[in-house]
Amino acid sequence: MPKTLPTPVNPPERDTAEREAVRRSVEDQFPFVAQLLAEGQPKAPAGEPETWSFIDRTTGALREVTCLPGCELDHSEDIETPTFRDDIICEASGETVTLPVDAGGGAEEMRFLQPSLRVQPFSSRLAERMPFVDIEVLDDEWIECLDPDGLETVIRTLSGRLSALRVAHAQLVAARAAYRGRA
Ligand SMILES: [Zn+2]
Repeated sequence: MPKTLPTPVNPPERDTAEREAVRRSVEDQFPFVAQLLAEGQPKAPAGEPETWSFIDRTTGALREVTCLPGCELDHSEDIETPTFRDDIICEASGETVTLPVDAGGGAEEMRFLQPSLRVQPFSSRLAERMPFVDIEVLDDEWIECLDPDGLETVIRTLSGRLSALRVAHAQLVAARAAYRGRA
């Protein structure tokens, strides 16, 4: 399938310096976004996003899409067959983490706290035309369409939960020691 890369606008040296500055800033502020970007890099050389076209199924027009950095989708079906523009999505999810959770039918491995960086460039919901993050909280239960402030709120809340887990851990260790002392 034909894919073309956009011509760089900036001279290479300045471009590299700017990218480096952005990379450092992203790593400092959003470590997991930096991880997503780093994991996506083998697909598109030197951080160049992929650009491709599809036939808009409603209007018959040819539309161009530039992928999110690190997009993991190959878009071959979007490119080969006319597609509703609302259905175009780019996504970078990174590695999935699971733990055994019992939802009533015995413990099963379930995905949890899985962030996906997404954009739907022609969505009828305008907020989805800018990159956003969906979080799979637990096994197909989602917090959707987070902007940076919303994601920051989730991170702050989870950070508080981690503190509570550490307190519970200390209490557990102390409680076990006390039980052993009784025996
Ligand atoms: Zn894409």
